[in-house]
Amino acid sequence: MTDYDFETLAVRAGTQRSQFKEHSEGLFLTSSFVFDSAAHAAERFSGAEEGMVYSRYTNPTVAMLQERLAALEDAQCCIATASGMSAILACVLGLLRSGEHIVAAQTLFGATVQLFNNWLPRLGIEVTFVSGTDPAQWRAAMRPNTRLLFVETPSNPLTEIYDIAALAELAHAHGAQLAVDNCFCTPALQRPLALGADLVVHSATKYLDGQGRVLGGAVLGKRALIEEPITAFLRNAGPTLSPFNAWVILKGLETLKLRMQAHCAGALQLAQWLERHPRVKRTFYPGLPSHPQHALAQRQQSAGGGIVSFVVDAGRESAWRVVDSCRLISITANLGDAKSTITHPASTTHGRLPPAARAAAGIEDGLLRVAVGLESVRDLEADLARGLG
Ligand SMILES: *Cc1c(COP(=O)(O)O)cnc(C)c1O
Repeated sequence: MTDYDFETLAVRAGTQRSQFKEHSEGLFLTSSFVFDSAAHAAERFSGAEEGMVYSRYTNPTVAMLQERLAALEDAQCCIATASGMSAILACVLGLLRSGEHIVAAQTLFGATVQLFNNWLPRLGIEVTFVSGTDPAQWRAAMRPNTRLLFVETPSNPLTEIYDIAALAELAHAHGAQLAVDNCFCTPALQRPLALGADLVVHSATKYLDGQGRVLGGAVLGKRALIEEPITAFLRNAGPTLSPFNAWVILKGLETLKLRMQAHCAGALQLAQWLERHPRVKRTFYPGLPSHPQHALAQRQQSAGGGIVSFVVDAGRESAWRVVDSCRLISITANLGDAKSTITHPASTTHGRLPPAARAAAGIEDGLLRVAVGLESVRDLEADLARGLG
């Protein structure tokens, strides 16, 4: 189906019909699959005949999702996982061994930082964190045993943009690989593999589902990297995606482009309103010309995304007043939902960082992050205006 446009692939790619010729994708809630004979079972197990064996390995609904997402990211291969974190775990443990090294942007998702800091060193894998926007720091961190560069762009919550093509070049010059967590943009806005990245990881929990229903994840890239060794790791370790969650996400992909366009349009409008508001000291949104990496964002992604962060003028007290005055926007850390959400990063997602580290990361006490959903932007503005006073 590679000749079709994104919107068509999002609706049609990967669909396989059973003998019943169902129109909507079938949901195969089965843990295993039966064989015609002992010899047939042996052929399936040996791989001599392709086909389903057991849902930790393969499942028709999960396979449809993998094929559709691969088409959207223009990837040779995709493997679905139980969550975004298991996608990152599979990527790292599939590719690296003890004695090897990762260089990562310091603004990664909180659980990714904890995984890299608390668990990988136990296995002899070291991680160096750098400022994602400073090429000199990336270069200085490279070592002969560096196997992987890892970034998330735009970053959370300050929406910093990192140069995927430049990082891919740096990785390849050192015989390493670049993995991009494409959760915030999704393939509807940004295609890291086309920019030179080797791997894309997703938390499908966010925009790919799009309605805050299920957890899921995926790793995408060249067949040689995904099939062996990342899929092998997942099959042995077990955090594969459930068919039910795959089915929900598969249906979510059908509306991905439309939803992302609406999230981006709403976020831009809200960011422009916030930037003009007298009580807002600073607004962070890649689609605003005032954003420090606005030009790079325009090159690298097709729109600014759905996340807007802003600093209110009187620190934590005024930020909490804005949160507590919301009647519409949900107070929750999730994002990528039809429902808009608001978080105070300094006391939630980044609350465990020591104050000095938090300040270094730019997480001020007055900072708020809004993940713009699909409601009317005028209603969202009114909701925030109440607390801004
Ligand atoms: C949520 C998130 C993850 C983790 O995904 P889960 O599905 O919650 O495991 C990883 N990266 C980013 C950028 C996220 O927002």
